[in-house]
Amino acid sequence: GGGPAPDYLSGLNTEQHEAVVTTEGPVLVLAGAGTGKTRVLTTRLAHILSTGRARPWEILAVTFTNKAAREMRERITHIIGPEAEGLRWLGTFHSVAAQILRRHAELVGLKSNYTIIDTDDNERLLKQLIEAENIDAKRWTPRILSGLIDAWKNRGWTPDRVPPSEAGEFANGKGISLYRQYQERLRILNACDFGDLLLHNITIFTGNPDVLADFQRRFQYVMVDEYQDTNVAQYLWLRLLAQGRQNVCCVGDDDQSIYGWRGAEVDNILRFERDFPGAKVVRLERNYRSTEHILAAASTLITANKGRLGKTLWTEETGGEKVKVSGVWDGEAESRMVADEIEKAKRAGRRYNQMAILVRASFQMRAFEERFVMLQIPYKVVGGPRFFERAEIRDAHAYLRLIQSPDDDLAFERIVNTPKRGIGDTSVQKLLQIARLEGISTVEAARVIIGSDDLPARTRTALSNFIRDLDRWRAQIGNMHHQRVLEMVLEESGYTDALRLDKGPTSQTRLENLKELVQSMGQFDSLEAYLEHVSLVMDLDREATGDAVWIMTLHSAKGLEFPLVFLPGWEEGVFPSQRSMDDKGEKGLEEERRLAYVGITRAREEARISFVANRQVYGRWTSQLPSRFVDELPLEHVDAGSETGYYGGGPGMQQTVSSRWDDPGVSAFQSGSYDSPGWKRAQDRVQQSSRGFGERSGGATAWRGGGSAARAKPIE
Ligand code: ATP
Ligand code: MG
Repeated sequence: GGGPAPDYLSGLNTEQHEAVVTTEGPVLVLAGAGTGKTRVLTTRLAHILSTGRARPWEILAVTFTNKAAREMRERITHIIGPEAEGLRWLGTFHSVAAQILRRHAELVGLKSNYTIIDTDDNERLLKQLIEAENIDAKRWTPRILSGLIDAWKNRGWTPDRVPPSEAGEFANGKGISLYRQYQERLRILNACDFGDLLLHNITIFTGNPDVLADFQRRFQYVMVDEYQDTNVAQYLWLRLLAQGRQNVCCVGDDDQSIYGWRGAEVDNILRFERDFPGAKVVRLERNYRSTEHILAAASTLITANKGRLGKTLWTEETGGEKVKVSGVWDGEAESRMVADEIEKAKRAGRRYNQMAILVRASFQMRAFEERFVMLQIPYKVVGGPRFFERAEIRDAHAYLRLIQSPDDDLAFERIVNTPKRGIGDTSVQKLLQIARLEGISTVEAARVIIGSDDLPARTRTALSNFIRDLDRWRAQIGNMHHQRVLEMVLEESGYTDALRLDKGPTSQTRLENLKELVQSMGQFDSLEAYLEHVSLVMDLDREATGDAVWIMTLHSAKGLEFPLVFLPGWEEGVFPSQRSMDDKGEKGLEEERRLAYVGITRAREEARISFVANRQVYGRWTSQLPSRFVDELPLEHVDAGSETGYYGGGPGMQQTVSSRWDDPGVSAFQSGSYDSPGWKRAQDRVQQSSRGFGERSGGATAWRGGGSAARAKPIE
């Protein structure tokens, strides 16, 4: 004791202070959004260092993303100076586990220079194994197996540990044996995948008590942010490392658990108190981030979830703007409205980077991106490529370019074997060589080679089929609407089929993006005009540096904050997602609601929610219903600003394009369409909700008061 408290402690409230200075023994900080959990963790780390309790390399601190780790390091540097550079065990679970594995690789049969393989390699390897077993790789795809193995790894299961009851249906129960073979292959290749990093660590620790004891001694203090999103493997890993000294501090919020689909378990919060008896549990209740209306809206919304640990939140930031909720006619109107508001805010003195658009699904980004390009509003897409840079969009464009101009060699190279049609790299090299020697296009070279015996017969047949398809598609330009042309190309090339069969985590998103692409082509007169537009957009579409509006998914917004936040697409079937609505039970819906809570609580000063009455989905208009989450917002904290006139007779509905994508396999996209089960439920809901929000607010709000009768019907 004695002496004045150091500067960095002076701004903390009592509970935060307690969590910071309780350095010894287990501590669990359980608190809502914006209460300073991350700030507590950072300050605590600085406190431990500046009071000489540990050296930087004796602290283990894990965050959820590399970005979060970087920011934490910066803030600690700000408090204690360059000593923070020595924090070599501050990082993500993966980055820390990789370092540990580097040192002890030989204990799991690897060398210290092992490589970490990416998804592509991972699937190629699995494919070889699947085919070697004579399993039908079209039905049991490498991607399904990859997902299965990953799920096992997230639960901490090596091949020997997978309970037979969890073997799953993959290839009639061959999953576990394939998993074993896969691990064996990786070992021979001196490689591992992402899931292995933690799993190998756990194997090393449990099999080598001396190694574990060494790390337990080294890590005097262990700290974890976003604890609610840890999976079982991460939890086991943490427990092993922290059980030595028991100086472990985890901070989290059960209401922000949004990675259940990746194996995260909120139960880890409850386990903590069991595994670390005598843990001090600190609750933070003052929110420092948001104004009263934003906080009230989020807090009320989340009360609809059952099984919460429960908490109260308050803020001193009284006043401010209510949460604005707007209903507009369609997706274009929504992006126009958001862009207008951004320009207005900019004129009023906000910087672009103080504003963020948080979407539920990446297909929603396209409309905003295009609007921004047009108005020259700089923007950044976080956590993924921009819409036009996505692989599936580039593939689709390559097909279109190639049928428009047969000499487009780059387009040819991109798709000649996408989807796989048995034209391998060697054959493509050969084609390129002939094209170069003869001074002709690659397509022409292909025509030459088909008539020769230069390549194996199988390859030549594949090539000749491909060229024939191209010719046929090209003949349709002018006969057929260009939306139909792309639709046909994607179908007949097998591109969409490949994605549909693909049960991997991104295939659904990629299908949605392609549908969004087809839909967006509707505004152009011809294929040529469309392709010209794309090349212009691609050119303008350079990554903005400096001041730019943020566009990202709700998932990647975790832990961040912005003065002004836009939350578009609050419609049944978009948010909550159709998939979560189709799930039995409330689990999926509750996770969506937590995501909504995360979304609203990112806002410091203004939150703007919007939904549309109609979405044109793949050339087909569907009537959308406002999200149930809109109903769950507290009326007194909401400003239901509406665009009167959008309902009951807006612009005429477009002719529906018949679509072969209307199959149940992709029904997740046909959110509000009349025939989906979601629609039936939604209709029941609107009966109730027409007595709800709108009426309570006086019935004057067109976006609700119009009721279902005023909604446009999709044309069947
Ligand atoms: P989330 O659950 O969203 O991750 P969090 O609980 O980690 O939120 P922080 O990001 O640490 O919250 O803090 C939210 C905001 O409140 C930050 O801008 C932070 O600087 C500020 N803040 C936290 N504690 C205080 C405090 N005692 N005094 C002033 N500002 C504070
Ligand atoms: Mg945080």
